[in-house]
Amino acid sequence: MIGLPLSAQAEAETETEETFEYDIPAIAPEVASETEEKPGWATQRFAVAAANPLATDAGYQVLKAGGSAIDAAIAVQMVLNLVEPQSSGIGGGAFLVHFDGEEVTAFDGREMAPGAVDESLFLDEEGEPLEFLDAAASGLSVGVPGTVRMLELAHKEHGELPWAELFAPAIQLAEDGFAVSPRLATSLAGEERLRQDSQAGAFYYPDGAPLEAGETLRNPALAAILREIAEHGSRALHTGNIANDLVTRVQGHQERGGALSLEDLASYEAKQRKALCTDWLAYTVCGFPPPSSGHLTVMQILGILEHLPAVEEPLVDGLPGEAWLHQFLDASRLAFADRGKYIADPAFVDAPGGDWSSMLDPEYLAKRADLVGDQSLGDGGAEPGNPGELSTAWGLHPAQPEYGTSHISIIDEQGNAIAMTTTIEQAFGSRIMADGGTGLAGGYLLNNELTDFSFEPEDEQGNPIANRVEPRKRPRSSMSPTLVFDRDSGELVASLGSPGGAAIIHYTAKSLVAMLDWGLDAQEALDLPHAITLGGPAFLEEGRFPASTLEALNARGHAASERELVSGLQALQVTDEGFFGGADPRREGVVMGD
Ligand code: GLU
Repeated sequence: MIGLPLSAQAEAETETEETFEYDIPAIAPEVASETEEKPGWATQRFAVAAANPLATDAGYQVLKAGGSAIDAAIAVQMVLNLVEPQSSGIGGGAFLVHFDGEEVTAFDGREMAPGAVDESLFLDEEGEPLEFLDAAASGLSVGVPGTVRMLELAHKEHGELPWAELFAPAIQLAEDGFAVSPRLATSLAGEERLRQDSQAGAFYYPDGAPLEAGETLRNPALAAILREIAEHGSRALHTGNIANDLVTRVQGHQERGGALSLEDLASYEAKQRKALCTDWLAYTVCGFPPPSSGHLTVMQILGILEHLPAVEEPLVDGLPGEAWLHQFLDASRLAFADRGKYIADPAFVDAPGGDWSSMLDPEYLAKRADLVGDQSLGDGGAEPGNPGELSTAWGLHPAQPEYGTSHISIIDEQGNAIAMTTTIEQAFGSRIMADGGTGLAGGYLLNNELTDFSFEPEDEQGNPIANRVEPRKRPRSSMSPTLVFDRDSGELVASLGSPGGAAIIHYTAKSLVAMLDWGLDAQEALDLPHAITLGGPAFLEEGRFPASTLEALNARGHAASERELVSGLQALQVTDEGFFGGADPRREGVVMGD
């Protein structure tokens, strides 16, 4: 269609567009349990994987009606906003990696800091960083949302069905009601600050008690807002009544109002970036460039592992063994040291050596691998390296907590594929619910993505931190939506990603190794227990490894202990027969397809 004038394009589109009728499925909420065994799903023509059965089903129906992967992603995202409101939605941001059969593109819908903030945003009067939750559950943390503008940009290029129709599933479910899922019920029960927001309190805690699993919930405010966005596009969110209401809610926060303005909302632009593609084993792995640290850090870990002596038996009795975990954890320590020093919004910081690929240079990674020995580098023992020539002395970014988020993987019948990770940052974001000025019950939650910036603008030596707050900057992310290709043929091999804060990086890296190096299928790979370190102590997923593994890692100096590690991986693999999908047993996701 390139070359046609816009009006002719629009006409051509209407002529060829198929239409889509949504049927509300009969999906009962799953039994409430911490983890649920997933079967893995084989499909032939197309496949969609998302974190909630109603959301997956909306994507399935769109694909069945001839929609593209992007079309399905829009339907899935809008239903997720309704049924998994704690993790993502129109009040947040997202990264989407897209393959159109030839090219891989990265669509950036990351939130942006308002124009009127500075690096002291999260410091108190004494210049000390605020408590994390005080900053998160406030107006200060709300960045300009980017998910809708990003999906709109991607839809303009790769949409098949009309934009408005893709909102039908979420609108119908919001109006007719859906059964609250166990995970949403558990999240509501364990959440303190959300009740303090008058809109969210009245909606999710009627009579003061949290909604329970299985209860029917309608969301008339969200239905009305989605109707506006369906009809008028992202303009309806970024200008007009819905925007006015958003700004009023952020600025008027009872304890800490934010600076987000109408001008910030109106001027937000989603960006199209060049995906980063890196050779690894027999594959080319494509992921998101900065402002995400995801791909660079995942590939540093995998690249360092490649330079270490191969572990003879990485899996012991079906679980990652101590010898492999030792290498993986120390590779993670080294990669996280570089991440903390160098990675931030590329509009504000230069890549080391002028190109991010300096961080993945095999010679550089071989040198980093030389630092890994029999004993661990230990808690705080890994220093950043010096990839490329770097003149600025960046300070080190201290680790901060992150939670929440959702991942979507889709492959359509034409062979387009997406990996999209979408977030409002913490569970329930800033705990501010906006009704779009409708005066109706419900609405959508605003993100707290700005807490992904470093609270401290400089380190103890006074060096500026690359990821400090600056006006109109996008906070560094860990999200790692990933598409994998066969290096020789260029054929698609897999799509995957996960929520989990900074541990997204470990979850994604290990799943890639499990599927592509160890030969596990997507479900087996996602079932494996996790091990992570951000550079300090190491953590093993609670109750999943034999005691001897923990002891052996501690004997090497990993300062390891157990904790809950809740990923939400989704993965699709291309097989000889079609596709095979896996969903994380730790969350409510399923895969569907024909
Ligand atoms: N806000 C985080 C990021 O963009 C993701 C949070 C999460 O997964 O819990 O890196």
